[in-house]
Amino acid sequence: MRIIRQKPMTLGERLYIFEAIRGLWTTLKHAARGLFDYDSLPTISYPEGQPEVRNTYRAKHRLMLRPDGTPRCVACGMCAAACPAHCIFIEATQSDDPRIEKRVMRFDIDHLTCVFCGLCVEACPVDALRMDTKVISFEHRTRDEFVSSLFDLTNWNPADYPEDEQSQKAPGGTLNKQALETWGMEVK
Ligand code: SF4
Ligand code: SF4
Repeated sequence: MRIIRQKPMTLGERLYIFEAIRGLWTTLKHAARGLFDYDSLPTISYPEGQPEVRNTYRAKHRLMLRPDGTPRCVACGMCAAACPAHCIFIEATQSDDPRIEKRVMRFDIDHLTCVFCGLCVEACPVDALRMDTKVISFEHRTRDEFVSSLFDLTNWNPADYPEDEQSQKAPGGTLNKQALETWGMEVK
């Protein structure tokens, strides 16, 4: 048990009026800063201004790509099984690559239902799904537009992830040529 002893009030505090003036002065200082030095305020004019987030923040999903541009996803369904909101919809088909059994034909995530828990990312055995896009606000007119399709989830630019090796191996990345050679694929 911790006893917190209250300090006795001074005479100035007991007179109340001085403390009221002190509080008012603080309010006026903040109001003046908002009027004359707005840019120094720790606030953002949302939605024109967006907050800076780290890539570890659980933001909108993206599907990682192989060096040839196909999704790394092997359609195992682990992410959909782990999802507590049941908002991942996957359809699989046979892969043309003999090294891979299946590939995704449909991969939808309903971001209106998603609770951004990140369990799908944790469940993925091949690092095919990430939530490091830093996209944290979604503005759409219809509910359907909140459903991210396979095209939407794979439509990202390696230049936005300069420090991530896996992203740089995707088409357009700095390590793509090297990765294609390692994979035994034709370098265009
Ligand atoms: S972040 Fe959570 S709720 Fe959203 S799709 Fe992944 S597992 Fe489902
Ligand atoms: S867990 Fe990974 S590989 Fe399996 S379906 Fe989901 S994204 Fe694809």
